Amino acid sequence: MTTVNGVGIGQGVAQGPVARMAEPLPAPSDAPSTIGADQERERAHEAVAAVARELEDRGARAGGAAQEVLEAQAMMAEDPSLADEVDARLAAGKTAERAVHEAFATFRDTLAEMGGYLGERAADLDDVAQRIIARLQGVAAPGVPAPGHPFILVARDLAPADTALLDLDQVLALVTSDGGPTSHTAILAREKGIVAVVGAAGAVALADGQTVIVDAATGTVVADPTAADLADAAERARAHAAAASAPITPGALADGTPVPLLANLGKPGDAQAARALGAEGVGLFRTEFLFLSADEAPTVAAQRAEYERLLAGFAGTKVVVRLLDAGADKPLSFLNDSEEENPALGVRGLRALRAHENILRDQLTALAEADAATRERGEGADLWVMAPMVATVEETRYFTALAREHGIRTVGVMVEIPAAALLADRVLAVTDFASIGTNDLTQYTMAADRVLGPVAGFQDPWHPAVLRLVADVGAAGRSLGKPVGICGEAAADPLLALVLVGLGATTLSMAPAALADVRAMLRAHTLDDAKRAAEASLSATDAATARAAAAVASSSPTPA
Ligand code: PEP
Ligand code: MG
Repeated sequence: MTTVNGVGIGQGVAQGPVARMAEPLPAPSDAPSTIGADQERERAHEAVAAVARELEDRGARAGGAAQEVLEAQAMMAEDPSLADEVDARLAAGKTAERAVHEAFATFRDTLAEMGGYLGERAADLDDVAQRIIARLQGVAAPGVPAPGHPFILVARDLAPADTALLDLDQVLALVTSDGGPTSHTAILAREKGIVAVVGAAGAVALADGQTVIVDAATGTVVADPTAADLADAAERARAHAAAASAPITPGALADGTPVPLLANLGKPGDAQAARALGAEGVGLFRTEFLFLSADEAPTVAAQRAEYERLLAGFAGTKVVVRLLDAGADKPLSFLNDSEEENPALGVRGLRALRAHENILRDQLTALAEADAATRERGEGADLWVMAPMVATVEETRYFTALAREHGIRTVGVMVEIPAAALLADRVLAVTDFASIGTNDLTQYTMAADRVLGPVAGFQDPWHPAVLRLVADVGAAGRSLGKPVGICGEAAADPLLALVLVGLGATTLSMAPAALADVRAMLRAHTLDDAKRAAEASLSATDAATARAAAAVASSSPTPA
């Protein structure tokens, strides 16, 4: 039995035989063209156009988020600057295959160097290049295998075109050796509720036909498991399925203590799906996702339209909107205008907004106007607004005053920098609420870049150092009577969610697909259980023992 570690997406567990995705095509030969530049150009243009149409067609069949991704890929294929690069190489006597290979590789390297969200688009570009070259060579594009029975799909990374049309009766789970939690494989797996472990470097050693257990909750892939492991995995898969089909009720502990369960969203269009999964409101609306590809700051009118849709989609519930969090893994060209050695420690989040106060004011204006307009139409929500990446009490004071000046009623800050957590009592004294972003809080506490594979092992919110900071914020919230939400990925891990409530979190916000498992976990435990689990994990020395201690403490009754 061997175990391969990666990043789990969701909480599901699956077992079955491995089927590996075909390896990418080899690089085309660099021998000069024998048919001349004109004919090569014609071949290249035909292949690019055909691949773009095919991607659009797959998108139309898949619908939803997959359609947007595939349309974006189709646009990549026909990007004019890429076409220029291809043409330049054809003019130099290369074959169409080689020109496409080289031109796309240049662009992919630029994207990969950017890292973060854009870096992970490099895999999308590779896929487009492979499809065009396959068409030129008259061979099938590398794709999903069809062994004729249900299987665990193991790949380096999956292209959106493959993920979009996966036959979910056949594919029991996905395992990738590359890619991270923000790769398209991860995004689409989350949306479709596919059991997945990504970034599992050791998966390259898994062989066709080998039996594996894919456990998204722990981010592990166990090869050649024992019969006992298989039985345990089957039992957990049943519990997961039961949670998913349980009636949707408001988030609450077994003793009735309410813990509202909210959604993390990046587009107003996702409101309906989130509500269908039982989201009781929005705990984090990431506004920067609306403007990732914009060259200029969005106008008040453009923003207002988006915010009105969001508020109307959640009429009558709480909606926490986070102002533009530009920088590091989410750069926005109109806010991050200088080169930095360490962008995660640079002018990002509120710092970048403050340096462009007109953009900050426009966003607050758009939110206040959207709030007023939706209320007037009787479809208003309870709008809360917060600033990202706040480090100091002074910044909290500044932001709270500015938001109030624009008519925002409920103002707060994200706690994702240890300095803000350590002085949470003083931060919360000058604002209305805090929302803990455990993704960045973990990154900064552990000094481990959240998008860097080799340090992924440090990026674990179960680490007691991170939990102690959460406990400090929870205690400050309790003593001041102010809400403390959690909106990082940690809230999507059911056992950790219970611990976070024990540490003082009053609401939990997560990707909507995680709501059912967290709801089921809370329903099965009391506040005393949560506090016991929290204390046990705080006393541990590392992340793994903290998790194990919480599991034991939450399931054993309080000692008499
Ligand atoms: C976080 O840092 O935990 C968070 C919720 O914000 P984001 O993931 O968007 O940085
Ligand atoms: Mg963050």
